Amino acid sequence: MDVIIKGGTVVTMDRGREILKNFSIGVEDGRIAEVAEKIPGEADFVIDARGKVVIPGLINTHTHAAMTLFRGSADDLPLHRWLQEEIWPVEAKLKPQHVYAGSLLACLEMLTSGITCFNDMYFYLDEVARAAEEAGMRAVLSYPLLDVAGEEQGRELLRLAEEGLRRFGGSELVRVFVGPHAPYTCSEELLLRAKELAERYGTGIHIHVSETEEEVERFVREKGMRPVEYLESIGFLSERVLMAHGVHLSRREQELVSARGAKISHNPVSNMKLGAGIAPVADYIKAGITVALGTDGAASNNVLDLFQEMKACALLQKVSRQDAAALPAWEALRLATVNGALALGMPELGVIRPGAVADIAVVDMRRPHLTPLSNPVSHLVYAARGEDVTDVLVNGRVVVQDGRCRTLDAEEVERFAVREAVELFESAGRGDRLPLAEEVP
Ligand SMILES: [Zn+2]
Repeated sequence: MDVIIKGGTVVTMDRGREILKNFSIGVEDGRIAEVAEKIPGEADFVIDARGKVVIPGLINTHTHAAMTLFRGSADDLPLHRWLQEEIWPVEAKLKPQHVYAGSLLACLEMLTSGITCFNDMYFYLDEVARAAEEAGMRAVLSYPLLDVAGEEQGRELLRLAEEGLRRFGGSELVRVFVGPHAPYTCSEELLLRAKELAERYGTGIHIHVSETEEEVERFVREKGMRPVEYLESIGFLSERVLMAHGVHLSRREQELVSARGAKISHNPVSNMKLGAGIAPVADYIKAGITVALGTDGAASNNVLDLFQEMKACALLQKVSRQDAAALPAWEALRLATVNGALALGMPELGVIRPGAVADIAVVDMRRPHLTPLSNPVSHLVYAARGEDVTDVLVNGRVVVQDGRCRTLDAEEVERFAVREAVELFESAGRGDRLPLAEEVP
């Protein structure tokens, strides 16, 4: 065996909802080779998981990794003002180096908190890929497509998107999706070209849909239809489509999404922080939609921690329906693992069983806030935090050990990110947004 994870409580997320006490996992050639009480023989790497819970690596199905550079720079504003006044003017100054630095920081943050795969949409896709590959992290990347500035812009971005698709076709860790930004920033023609591109390359589509009520109202005013109805009317919806947010969907729209097999990435913390609303995901699940979880970018969250996201997701359904059973802990954990894998079209992830890809996180339960270990699933959703993760495997490789990232130098990554953030904000004339950034050496 390459790696043996020894003697932990394994929350398999397999169909039988099995929780295996004092079990071991053998990993070979990037796959889970064995799940058994005892695994004989030698291993290059042994992780002692006694007192720990072993779970499939968490899957972050919507983020903008490089936006870690924007963390804390603009809070407490509604989405459209926040975007137009604070984010876009700074993003206009983005250079490849900024995206690389921000993405490295995001990978460090995600990996050390048990996230093994992320679905990203951002500019300079190559830089995000470079960061993910250096971190040894699995990534699904899309280049944002939009044509608000006209046809020429759409054509140029499509060209870049196709370049990305070609370049990462053979990569082990990086996959490329097609990323039309949103129905309100893409013309019908661009949406259809994006769809055609995804079909031609046999890949997925990552798109923001119905994040705010304002967006839906504008659509109804301008097109006489709600966004999902519009996407259906142009033949855009299919099982390839992963919609980020999907906060405001009518019953009819939920039926359409379910019938077409499109998926939804639910981002509860970002939705709350930007005041976007509450996605009725308990209804979506009932309607048969595959719902997964995402953190969104660090500018609107402000952390990339799926433990917080699972808790927020469960609490938000409970409080909005005044029903404590509206979304149980098990379901929240399913959204962050199995469903994340399905949403990204990679069913070999998100589960611990022989033959599955060895993307695994180990969570230490010997902490005051996780004692006594009455119910591991309850603890994972309601009590654990990203910092409780001690070991992480991606593709069978140990990338985090005893809480320390083995692939990236944490201090160096943090210093680099600070330097690039300051440079970026200063170049946009917004140096005042990060007044204390350089105080931390
Ligand atoms: Zn987003």
